[in-house]
Amino acid sequence: MSEDTAEATTIEIEDMITVGTLADRLSIPVTRLIGELMKNGVMATVNERIDFDTAQIIVEELELGINITKKVTAENTIPVRSKPVSSDKAKARPPVVAVMGHVDHGKTSLLDAIRGADVVKGEAGGITQHISAYQIEHNKRIITFLDTPGHEAFAAIREHGALLTDIVIIVVAADDGIKPQTVEAIRFAKKAGVKIIVAVNKIDKEGADINRVKQQLSENDVLIEEWGGDTVALPVSAKTKEGIPALLDMILLVTDIEELKADFDVPAQGLVIEAHVEQGRGPVAQALIEEGKLKAGDFIVAGSSYAKVRNLESTDGKPIKEGTPSMPVIITGFKTLPQFGDEFKVVGNEKEARNASEKTAEEKNTRDGRMDIGSNELIRLINRDKKLQELNIIIKADVQGSLTSVIDSLKAMDTEEVAVRVVGAGVGPVSENDLYLAHISNAIIYGFNVEIPASSKQQANRDKVRVRLYKVIYELIDDVKEELSDLLIPEIVETELGRLIVKGIFKTTKTEIICGGEVTKGKISAPALARVMRNDEVLGEIEVTGVRRGPVEAKEVIEGEMCGLSLKTTKRIELMENDKIEVFARETVQRKL
Ligand code: GDP
Repeated sequence: MSEDTAEATTIEIEDMITVGTLADRLSIPVTRLIGELMKNGVMATVNERIDFDTAQIIVEELELGINITKKVTAENTIPVRSKPVSSDKAKARPPVVAVMGHVDHGKTSLLDAIRGADVVKGEAGGITQHISAYQIEHNKRIITFLDTPGHEAFAAIREHGALLTDIVIIVVAADDGIKPQTVEAIRFAKKAGVKIIVAVNKIDKEGADINRVKQQLSENDVLIEEWGGDTVALPVSAKTKEGIPALLDMILLVTDIEELKADFDVPAQGLVIEAHVEQGRGPVAQALIEEGKLKAGDFIVAGSSYAKVRNLESTDGKPIKEGTPSMPVIITGFKTLPQFGDEFKVVGNEKEARNASEKTAEEKNTRDGRMDIGSNELIRLINRDKKLQELNIIIKADVQGSLTSVIDSLKAMDTEEVAVRVVGAGVGPVSENDLYLAHISNAIIYGFNVEIPASSKQQANRDKVRVRLYKVIYELIDDVKEELSDLLIPEIVETELGRLIVKGIFKTTKTEIICGGEVTKGKISAPALARVMRNDEVLGEIEVTGVRRGPVEAKEVIEGEMCGLSLKTTKRIELMENDKIEVFARETVQRKL
């Protein structure tokens, strides 16, 4: 086998491949491949597609001296959508830029400095909770910034953020250097195939070391221009604003080099980046336009929801006449709440919009969505694998983005012993339905930035449903962690207290031994547990019921002292001279995750 692999050729194949194509790539007759598939119980014809795992097994069986590996494409690493294809009438559009990097390296500060605003202070917990976007003008040109959440708990959103962007600014604090989340951000950006600009931030600080950052970048496959690579690293300070104009210039330069374009005169399409319900306005969505123009009165479909656009606003809430490519807009008029990450597009009329949304809704229902709870789920709840202790929870959040983030963070805590089971999730206040579901599935309801109406509170009290509401995501996560920890089987911890070597045996019955000996280590007191050892073999466990120093009862005896011990046994142990008695304390300790 090792000889084979030494000489084996490796070919890359797609995630799904037709039998015919695979035979071609392997340079074997297709009949041979079909025959091998049949031997393995796979009935596939030449035009049928098989998945990579099947292909791998079959190729191994064929013993061709060929290894296959999965072609790493954006599709099979992160959920990339196909971006709209522009025609030859396409015109230049603003770039869409996201800022990523390690926590506390200054993403929010940098976005604020660019925007000339100060939103950091307003956030609960000091982290950006929702994805959002804004546009700025620099040198009479527009740049769109996605305000992507910054904490590791928001990996899911960051992935989506990367899909929307043309350029990712990776912020690295000059005094701290590259950290795990920086590496993760680099990975995201590379996988999504977007341009990277590195902003080496906090250069005003003592200990700032730009060269070290550059060195670390090269160690992480990001080679900067001055060292022969194609990534630009710019020194900036979000605090003093030094370097920010140069950073914006660089964004525009990359935009020109990349020739970012879009069709303006086509029906609009794009992506929903945030959605929530507002009192008096109903479902409100924030969307990024990728192609075309969007106007009030247009009919749009977004996933399983549709709208006749009622109000169109910029992200700072000002009414706008039309939205154009790369512009983030706020849309009202949706019949139901669209989902974060839904693609939207303008269609001809209401009927078309309704039909398209219904079709998507049907498809969604037939898929096994993790947030859908149906009878199957309930059966699974009841018959769940007893080895794995699960904590049933229902999550409610104010917006879809937070909901996804909370679920992802909680799922990340799963271990082999304990896991979170999301039996329900949704956007909006804690409803009576949630309480009912919590009641029948014995779940805890966690609310993030949502309330529970007074009427539901009564129901919660009556049914003893645990409802916990949070404004700070870490606190919510910590609470779930505590609950999960309680499900862990407690650990038994033994602490050795002392040792004694037996010098004489005075009495032995089935249940009692009285002996004398010398304490060789630590101290011995009663009552305590002990083990009798003979040449490293455990003869049995006993209980120390009394300790004597000479004829007198002693509280404790210490190393070097001679003493008498009264021992209680459950089975007869024939104690002998030179046996060892190890005295220990045993306690159960609740483990923590
Ligand atoms: P984030 O977690 O990446 O969004 O980081 P923040 O923007 O919240 O910044 C983290 C901390 O670093 C805050 O206390 C900021 O005031 C500080 N900070 C950010 N940028 C700079 C900078 O350029 N210079 C200095 N001295 N401090 C900065």
